[in-house]
Amino acid sequence: MTPSLDVRVDDRRHSRVLQSPLAAPRGGIMLHYDDSSRDDWAVEWFHDPRCTNGYTWLVLDDGRVVELADPAMRTPHAGACKTPKANSVYYGIAAATNGLVPVTAPQLASIVALCLDLVRHHHWAIESLDDRLVGHDEQAVWTPQYTTRRELWGRTGRKVDPTGLRPDGRPIIDLAEMKRRIASLT
Ligand SMILES: [Zn+2]
Repeated sequence: MTPSLDVRVDDRRHSRVLQSPLAAPRGGIMLHYDDSSRDDWAVEWFHDPRCTNGYTWLVLDDGRVVELADPAMRTPHAGACKTPKANSVYYGIAAATNGLVPVTAPQLASIVALCLDLVRHHHWAIESLDDRLVGHDEQAVWTPQYTTRRELWGRTGRKVDPTGLRPDGRPIIDLAEMKRRIASLT
């Protein structure tokens, strides 16, 4: 039995986000951005009954961490992915930003700290981080539920977060940089 998870959270708002028991053990962390343009609207949206997305944590641009769901439960953050049962296997962390605005330094620092807490909690080996820390875009695949174009089924391209769509190619969340920072802190 793993001890209960204790991460640094500034605000807990478990409410409307859809939660269900895990269907597979946690094995990693998936990073997203939520496509919001303002932090206050972002937090509101996750309490709107029409919101069907659910991250475990939303990290605001001032670095504050809002816990939207019980980390011991799965939420619908990943959808169909290369990894089966991705909603359970990966914790979902989203930066409150969009496809053009890179995460701020405090936002990145908080995401790194959160990941570090999870790595320590699960005693994940630092060498395994390459597989465990993933972007939604490298995992999300097309299926018949998302498109009738059969040639796309099973292929990635369904999501662009957290790399984003900047003309200069700069990633919104730089996963390679994050992995280096986490490794240097362990
Ligand atoms: Zn995503």
